[in-house]
Amino acid sequence: MSVVPTGGTLGILGGGQLGRMLAMSAARLGIDAHIYAPEENSPAARVSAAFTCAAYDDAAALKAFAQSVDAITTEFENVPARTCEILAAFTPVRPHARALEIAQDRVAEKTFLNEQGIGTAPWRAVTTAPEMTDATAAIGLPAILKTRRLGYDGKGQARIMAAAESDQALADMKAAPSILEGFVAFDREISVIVARGIDGAIACYDPGENDHEDGILRRTTVPASIPAATRDAAYAIAEKIVRSLDYVGVMGVEMFVQSDGTILVNEIAPRVHNTGHWTLEGCAISQFEQHVRAVCGWPLGSTERHSNAVMTNLLGAEADDWLALGNAAQAVHLYGKGASRPGRKMGHVTTLSPKT
Ligand code: AMP
Repeated sequence: MSVVPTGGTLGILGGGQLGRMLAMSAARLGIDAHIYAPEENSPAARVSAAFTCAAYDDAAALKAFAQSVDAITTEFENVPARTCEILAAFTPVRPHARALEIAQDRVAEKTFLNEQGIGTAPWRAVTTAPEMTDATAAIGLPAILKTRRLGYDGKGQARIMAAAESDQALADMKAAPSILEGFVAFDREISVIVARGIDGAIACYDPGENDHEDGILRRTTVPASIPAATRDAAYAIAEKIVRSLDYVGVMGVEMFVQSDGTILVNEIAPRVHNTGHWTLEGCAISQFEQHVRAVCGWPLGSTERHSNAVMTNLLGAEADDWLALGNAAQAVHLYGKGASRPGRKMGHVTTLSPKT
């Protein structure tokens, strides 16, 4: 079990805002970040000691990168499994490739969760019209058709409210392998940010309550308004997931809470997560520092929350206007992404209030 010492270097696959906040937390621990990403314009690279701009299948660049760092992690779950295999021949990769592979494919993800006895929306794998007919009959409507791979922020999804809409929904998937999920009439959406260290220690942050608009996270509020028993059940699910995967690092587990308190898992993200950004101000040790500690083989830190927090994403042009929000108590994070597009996550603000 290799441990990255202070003064060492952590390699990070992916160059977006999650990598940027990981790199800044690593710096606070005296650990340099080396970003590996295919895009030249990288918000993470701009705050890091080193940057390799190369494709995820560039074996020579991957080898040189792996040999120049002490451990490797990812801020982006769609890194090809083969990339992790190439890297792992030289340097520890945490979390391991299997966790990424499961999270990359909604069918593999739900199969894994159900095998652990964890509830999900009812689902069927669907690619062809006959499969769609069978799946709709089995699951009923309304339902949601999603691509198995590469969907994010509600992209690659179609809601099917009536049978007449199902042909068009399938056509929109353009023959991409898909999954039909029953529509969950949830009371609220929550997420647990869970961390597991190389020694097997597990720590969870208080669940956040999440509001989405058009499939994109708008706001996370902590604490979530759920009873203690629901919170404890959410922790137990998150802990089971990381333990059964022998996972190392931080993971975001998105959940639906139904009116009877039953929890269904929507998605797992094998990385730091947008719904955990509040921990930067709401806890002594943020999800970013926690992830760096875990993947570098350090002991986990405390996940204790010292305040209530509301984290609001700044989407598109909202980030140009954050000064106009007029609230000096808000902690502002701007990701330095350059061009804003509608719906693009450009930054976030967090407001604290006394802990309840
Ligand atoms: P996802 O990309 O799977 O995280 O979905 C984005 C958002 O769509 C979720 O956060 C939910 O608000 C909503 N959603 C996704 N799947 C379902 C479902 N099976 N039932 C109800 N709402 C869903």
